[in-house]
Amino acid sequence: MVETTPLTDRYGRVASDLRISLTDKCNLRCSYCMPAEGLDWLPNERLLSDDEIVRLAAIAVQRLGVREIRFTGGEPLVRRGLVDIVARTRAVDPSVELSVTTNGLGLAKLARPLADAGLSRVNVSLDTVRPETFATITRRDRLHDVVEGLEAAAEAGLGPIKINAVLLRDVNDDQAAELLEWCVTRGYQLRFIEQMPLDAQHGWSREGMVTADETFERLEKEFTLTPAHEPRGSAPAELFHVDGGAGVVGTVGVIASVTRPFCGDCDRVRLTADGQVRNCLFAREESDLRTALRNGASDEELASRWVTAMAGKLPGHGIDDPTFLQPDRPMSAIGG
Ligand code: SAM
Ligand code: SF4
Repeated sequence: MVETTPLTDRYGRVASDLRISLTDKCNLRCSYCMPAEGLDWLPNERLLSDDEIVRLAAIAVQRLGVREIRFTGGEPLVRRGLVDIVARTRAVDPSVELSVTTNGLGLAKLARPLADAGLSRVNVSLDTVRPETFATITRRDRLHDVVEGLEAAAEAGLGPIKINAVLLRDVNDDQAAELLEWCVTRGYQLRFIEQMPLDAQHGWSREGMVTADETFERLEKEFTLTPAHEPRGSAPAELFHVDGGAGVVGTVGVIASVTRPFCGDCDRVRLTADGQVRNCLFAREESDLRTALRNGASDEELASRWVTAMAGKLPGHGIDDPTFLQPDRPMSAIGG
C-alpha cells in the first residue's frame, strides 16, 4: 500500500477532483469556445498515449487522493481509445466517480459501451433546444444527435445526467426557461454557466456576458425557484428546486464563475491532453509531467512533481483584477 499525499495548496484547499483532457480537437465550433475555422490542434507526438493517461490517473487516485475523474476536452468522444481508457481507469479503483463532459455527438453509439466500461455518469453541453439556434451557436446542424445521445445515456443508466448551458446575449438568453422546462420534463439536471474569458478568439467582454442574476430573473418569470438545502461545499453550482406547476418539478443550478467566484472552495486540478498539470482554469503557468514521464520518472517522482504543481495555486482567478490576463490556452485545450 503506497502512502497518499493530498494535493494541498498554500490556502489549505485540497484537490480531489481531476479533469483530464483527452484531446483538444472538437467536432463542433461553439462561438464562445472556438473560431469557425477551428484551431491548430496539438501534434500527435505531444499527446499523452492511452497508457500514459491511465498511468497518471492511477497515480492521482492511488498516491494523491483523487476521488473523482472527469474526462473532457476538446471533445472526449472523438478520442478513439476512450472506452478502453475508462475501463482501465475503472480497474484502478472501483469506487472513484468517473464521468465524461461531452457535446453529445456520438453518445448515442457510445453510451452503452461507456456504461459497460464502468463510467458513472455524463455531463452533456446543450445551450438550446431550437435547431436554428443550435446551428448558430455551434456552427453545425447537429441538435438531433445530442438529443439522441441524451436518450441513449439515460437508457444506459449514465445518470444523473447533467446538462451544461451557456447563455449568450441576443442569441439564446431568451430561451433559458424553455431549456429548463425541456430538461426538467426529461429528468436532466440543467446548470447554467456564466461565460468565461477562455475563448480562443478573445471575444469575451464582461458587458456582453449574461450574468447569473439575469438568468435568475428570466427563470423566475416562469418558475418558482427555492434554494436547495444541501450545502454547496466545493460544488460550483448554486442549486434550486424548480416548480413550474403542472408536475414540472426538478432542480436547476447556476454557476456564477465570474460574478460570484467559488475559488475559495475549489477542489479541482486539471491535466491537459499534452500532459501538463494546471492547478486552475485561469493559471498562467503549467507543470510538465509528460517530459518527466517520457524520461523515465518513477510514479513517486511524478506524484511529487504533481504535489509541487498544486502548492503554487493562486487564491482566485482574478478576472476582476485590472492586471488580469486571459491564459494563452483556450478552454478547448485546457479541458473544461
Ligand atoms: N466538448 C465538450 C463539451 O462541450 O461538453 C467538453 C469540453 S467543453 C470545453 C466543456 C464545457 O466548457 C462545456 O460545457 C462548454 O459549454 C464550456 N465552455 C466552453 N467555453 C466556455 C466559456 N468561454 N465560458 C464558459 N463555459 C465554456
Ligand atoms: Fe467543442 Fe465543447 Fe468547445 Fe463546443 S464547448 S467547441 S463542443 S470543446
